[in-house]
Amino acid sequence: VIVYANGQWVNENDAVIPVDERGHQFGDGVYEVTRIYEGKPFMMREHVERLVKSAEAIRMDLGMTVEEIESLMMEAVERSGEKNCDVYIQITRGIAKRGHLFPKDVKPSITMTVRPMEVIAMEERLAGKTAIFHEDERWKNCYIKSLNLLPNILAKQVANDAGAYEAILIRDGYVTEGTSSNIFIVQNGELVTRPLSNYILAGITRMRVEQLAEQLNIPFVEREFTKEDVLEAEEVFMTSTTNEVLPLVEIDGTTIGSGVAGPVTERVAKQFLQTV
Ligand code: PLP
Repeated sequence: VIVYANGQWVNENDAVIPVDERGHQFGDGVYEVTRIYEGKPFMMREHVERLVKSAEAIRMDLGMTVEEIESLMMEAVERSGEKNCDVYIQITRGIAKRGHLFPKDVKPSITMTVRPMEVIAMEERLAGKTAIFHEDERWKNCYIKSLNLLPNILAKQVANDAGAYEAILIRDGYVTEGTSSNIFIVQNGELVTRPLSNYILAGITRMRVEQLAEQLNIPFVEREFTKEDVLEAEEVFMTSTTNEVLPLVEIDGTTIGSGVAGPVTERVAKQFLQTV
């Protein structure tokens, strides 16, 4: 693992973050997870643009251009020597004596890690994973990829405790997204996902799946859907940078479709991996 902290390349467990760092104290920052396949960044521009958007949303000036952020991430990848890896970058409002108000004249604090990616074998992927439903207890600005992940963590742990892989979040009776993924269902042959809004993260994998659906001539529709729609769906899958396209075959104890990845999911998952 390669670790970067504010201009230095350090060891994983070095104490490089001062106690008054605002990410550490308030979760006052934003982050991205980007994947590198065979040495090539996958949709890195989109990730960095989302990072900039998240920073703007919390009124934080990154003080770096999109190109500078990209080249910093690629430097980390090169130093790691990894060909297939995940780059985590976190930018917080900086280091200043603890207080809620934005500190004046501070520089953002930037940390990064590069770790080898965990590959999910195709056989395991197509066997599918299980999920539960959980109330979406988050705030109203889930389009911001902020460090405040406590509701996500708690819901994911509830899923894990129930032997499930992901928790599908429900707000006002409708599915928003997963704790760290976007959710798709196949309904009457159409690929359905929730429209973008403040209530979900605009997933980069979601964006790619929309493009793939067009290439594969699969009708793609954005509309809200309920728990019942999920349970009655022909297929369900989740998407994220680290899980890619991952079928969900049992939800809250109900088997989805035939209990393994359905044909639409399989096509999208395979096409995704072929085009990364
Ligand atoms: N939704 C949430 C809440 C997430 O944390 C993530 C990613 O971790 C996603 C969706 C999927 O986004 P992406 O495909 O850009 O990784």
